Amino acid sequence: MTAVILDGRAMGAEIRSELRDEVRHYLQQRGQPPGLVIVHVSSDDGASAVYSRAILRIAEDIAVSARLEHLPALTSPEELRCRLLLLNEDEATQGIIVQMPLPAHLSQKMVADSIAARKDIDGISTSSAGNLFLGLPSFLPSTAAAVMEILERSKTTVAGRRIVVIGRSNVVGKPLALMLLQKNATVTICHSRTNNLAALTRQAEVLIAAVGRANMVTAEMVRPGATVIDVGINTRPEGGIVGDVDFASVREVAGALTPTPGGVGPLTNVMLLKQCVQAAWQQVGN
Ligand code: NAP
Repeated sequence: MTAVILDGRAMGAEIRSELRDEVRHYLQQRGQPPGLVIVHVSSDDGASAVYSRAILRIAEDIAVSARLEHLPALTSPEELRCRLLLLNEDEATQGIIVQMPLPAHLSQKMVADSIAARKDIDGISTSSAGNLFLGLPSFLPSTAAAVMEILERSKTTVAGRRIVVIGRSNVVGKPLALMLLQKNATVTICHSRTNNLAALTRQAEVLIAAVGRANMVTAEMVRPGATVIDVGINTRPEGGIVGDVDFASVREVAGALTPTPGGVGPLTNVMLLKQCVQAAWQQVGN
């Protein structure tokens, strides 16, 4: 068997086209586009600056008004909190993202507690997490939302099926498991202390790897015909990136598979923008 490739770039292009229409509609009704602010506290221009620019490019493409606020690495907790509280009140800003990682003296919890839930388009606040836990509508961590979008757009049945998620982080594994449970999947969460991981993954009709270990999921760990979603992004010493799934061997066993690059990654930022547009509509009561 050779797996069907689930093309995240093509799905991302489809969603962008839908968002362009939505933003046009919003602009017609409100006279201004949805606004997004990315706050980046840093002294360097490293990986998260690249990530910020990628978000800005998508925003420009769909005509969301987005800007990057670069704050110096020595910004105090109080200064950052004040800035976020001002953005909460800013009528031109409907979505706020704070780039992680933060400098060590700034706490992620403080940031999560400072962004208003209605503008928390990456689902990092306790309020968003609490709503997700309770099965109430909320903004979702964008990577987990991207995985759900891939499953939905590829018409992968989730309800009633055995799904194994490898990884339990607060940004990917845990929220994803809750979203899948909400969609009536039977979910198993695996992590670094799981015994006999392969015995569990081989039972999965849908297997999702969100670990951060290059090529750790091999063909022997995959049930024939399973749908395999690879969230991992691992930088190779020789350059380029690979996923958590050994693409070459798994594609011979799986029924469907996301590539890396070109799978979950390209959808993650699109989902952020999608939630920004949603936030904008919600803030005008629509
Ligand atoms: P993380 O916080 O480091 O979590 C990794 C998880 O994997 C942890 O729950 C850990 O278990 C588990 N794990 C580690 N080694 C394991 C092993 N040998 N067997 C089973 N489980 C193991 O990472 P993350 O933020 O969730 O990200 C996961 C991956 O997704 C990374 O490669 C990251 O770069 C990628 N990512 C991609 C996107 C995207 O847009 N595509 C976005 C975010 C992240 P413990 O909890 O027991 O430590």
